[in-house]
Amino acid sequence: MIIVMRPQATPEQINHLCEKVKELGLTPQVSRGVQKTIIGVIGQEDKLRVKPLEAFPGVEAVLEIQKPYKLSSRDFKPESTEFEMPNGVKVGGKKIVMMAGPCSVEGRDMLMKTAEIVKNNGVGFLRGGAFKPRTSPYDFQGLGEEGLKYLREAADKFGLMVVTEVMDTRMVELVARYADMLQIGARNMQNFDLLKECGMAKRPVLLKRGLSATIKELLLSAEYLLSKGNFKIVLCERGIRTFETATRNTIDINAIPVIKRESHLPIIVDPSHGTGVRAYVPAIAKAAIAAGADGIMTEVHPNPEEAWSDGPQSFRAEEFHALMDDLRHLAKAVGRDL
Ligand code: PEP
Ligand code: MN
Repeated sequence: MIIVMRPQATPEQINHLCEKVKELGLTPQVSRGVQKTIIGVIGQEDKLRVKPLEAFPGVEAVLEIQKPYKLSSRDFKPESTEFEMPNGVKVGGKKIVMMAGPCSVEGRDMLMKTAEIVKNNGVGFLRGGAFKPRTSPYDFQGLGEEGLKYLREAADKFGLMVVTEVMDTRMVELVARYADMLQIGARNMQNFDLLKECGMAKRPVLLKRGLSATIKELLLSAEYLLSKGNFKIVLCERGIRTFETATRNTIDINAIPVIKRESHLPIIVDPSHGTGVRAYVPAIAKAAIAAGADGIMTEVHPNPEEAWSDGPQSFRAEEFHALMDDLRHLAKAVGRDL
């Protein structure tokens, strides 16, 4: 259920209503828009139906939301979510947000080199895994805290923001100490304890779509984060598993307009994991922006031939530079900046 307040509703009226909601054992989530304030009611709503909420002063309408996700829906927050990172980079606005870096942090040197490439191309976020979800337990699992230290050092040197994956509830506090944005990977999209923990962390979260998750499931996972009070969430379409084997995954371009209509949350696309093939990444990155995506995450490595993971889908410096040039033109054509 959501309660839409009148444009003239006073802070006292809004508080009064929130108190009533709490008295019934429910949680109010307040969204203050430009025009109106909306109160989302979380919990067992049947307790509320007995209350004539529309009679409360300042209330314009009380709407039942049929959708299973509430706080992630545009009904709750009609304006698209935008937020600014400490280095001034905006997420969710007119400007396309770029996140780039290696698949895994392999060492200090390669990360410094990558961060320089990233910075020289005007990118705001440095990505790279210090904790890696690998299909085989014998593959490189990441450098752990040592990797986080390199990420922080490289990002600080070049004025970048760190986005890196956290795989385990026990690591949220550690990763949040070094990272500016927590990444929840595809394989953990429905790790509900991790979602709850990240929802309570004081860091924005990048939530990647699971390999076989529907859009509804992705939005419900986002709902876990929002219902814990974290509203700085970015969704990421990174390809889903289909019968097609020519590419690593199949990027679901449809997901972009669907999510844009259903939700206020920004959505970015990861064409590196989506295709698994460097040569296909530019076409899909362009398609994503043309379809309305708010950003692109891509893998870049100073020497992909030597990469410890995902070399075949990682760009060399000059290829990344060419992509950025292309994307700049494309962004302009669809009324965005880059
Ligand atoms: C990653 O971005 O490092 C990653 C492992 O991606 P995904 O979770 O989408 O597979
Ligand atoms: Mn990777």
